[in-house]
Amino acid sequence: MEKIRMTTPLVEMDGDEMTRILWRMIKEELLEPFVELKCEYYDLGLEHRDATRDQVTMDAALANKKYGVSVKCATITPNAQRMTEYSLHEMWKSPNGTIRAVLDGTVFRAPILIDCIKPVVKNWKKPITIARHAYGDVYRGTEFRIPGPGKAELLFTGADGAELRETVYEFECPGILQGTYNKDTSIASFARSCFNYALATKQDLWFSTKDTISKKYDHTFKDIFADIFETEYKEAFAAAGIEYFYTLIDDAVARVIRSEGGFIWACKNYDGDVMSDMVSTAFGSLAMMTSVLVSPDGCYEYEAAHGTVTRHYYRYLKGEATSTNPMATVFAWTGALAKRGEMDGNAELQDFAKTLEAACLETLESGVMTKDLCGLAEGITPTPVTSEEFIKAIRRNLEAKLGA
Ligand code: NAP
Ligand code: MG
Repeated sequence: MEKIRMTTPLVEMDGDEMTRILWRMIKEELLEPFVELKCEYYDLGLEHRDATRDQVTMDAALANKKYGVSVKCATITPNAQRMTEYSLHEMWKSPNGTIRAVLDGTVFRAPILIDCIKPVVKNWKKPITIARHAYGDVYRGTEFRIPGPGKAELLFTGADGAELRETVYEFECPGILQGTYNKDTSIASFARSCFNYALATKQDLWFSTKDTISKKYDHTFKDIFADIFETEYKEAFAAAGIEYFYTLIDDAVARVIRSEGGFIWACKNYDGDVMSDMVSTAFGSLAMMTSVLVSPDGCYEYEAAHGTVTRHYYRYLKGEATSTNPMATVFAWTGALAKRGEMDGNAELQDFAKTLEAACLETLESGVMTKDLCGLAEGITPTPVTSEEFIKAIRRNLEAKLGA
């Protein structure tokens, strides 16, 4: 069989620990035999990030901006313990944070559904995608404890010196105080990323905030979404046969639970953090989740939603064969290859990505699965396998499908 060719490079960001091991296996078994991979490789493994003083992360992010599509392996975000473990020069920032700052995007997470793993919510038939705004609010908040009686005020001093001032509360006892912010530019790019993603995936878009209580803060989110929809997306949505729907967050929660799924739920930063864990758990697991960062100017970064699976890696280093689930990492590759194919008008590459996904799903449906899923499967007798055995089983299914 002749290998599929690529025209534009895909930005490849390698990573750490167990996911780095899976990365290699996936490339060797499931990609390189079939595709003449044209990748611009960036090693985001912690050793190389440290050796380049983290320049490699910035270079990778800029390459993502240049070529449009990247695929990223999970990476270690260093903490004090990693400083000693890897003798780091500095406690480098989270690579995801650096990449997000360059691309200015929204993270979309959707579950990978298979028949033998039923969602906990029995009427959910189709995936629910959470679109999380990844900037500001409580994640960039300023807060302190109020020691005792006194007046708390909110003060803004304009560049021209003009002041806006309001009393928050006159404390008669100790308490707590918090200031949070967001920016119109960031909210607008969040909105555009959501509208573009809805169009690209032909799904309805829901958005929810608490605008009845937060009449300026949350209401601004609602207004910016509404303005951008009216002026830039209304016609395209009508043409695609999809809807934009705004509702209060409490109403949204009730509707989501009663729904069949099959839509995108855009959430403010905190809501998205909390709701994505609820939705992913109700659908199965983080290893069965796709994750893509979409920038407002149409750049895509595909990754797994989980981390580097450190506990499995330490067992791997002792020579044990681990049963780490590679699904999210395989789907990061298929997502990126399909998007590259779409942008380049490369139908063969798009078809290959679809076929590989189908081969993965069939392997799982046949009961061959990693240990994390065995306890969740219903109506079949699962066969627990190691990561390597699982990837080899996918390869056999893939070859059968490709007639290779
Ligand atoms: P983690 O790597 O997601 O793993 C937590 C636990 O979840 C694992 O010990 C394992 O449970 C289970 N798990 C996660 N992915 C799995 C998979 N593919 N197959 C089977 N089980 C899986 O989270 P963490 O241990 O908190 O973080 C480890 C490192 O990852 C940290 O250095 C962190 O900075 C980094 N991280 C990176 C990203 C990213 O790059 N996007 C995201 C999160 C964390 P059992 O051990 O019970 O089997
Ligand atoms: Mg969280």
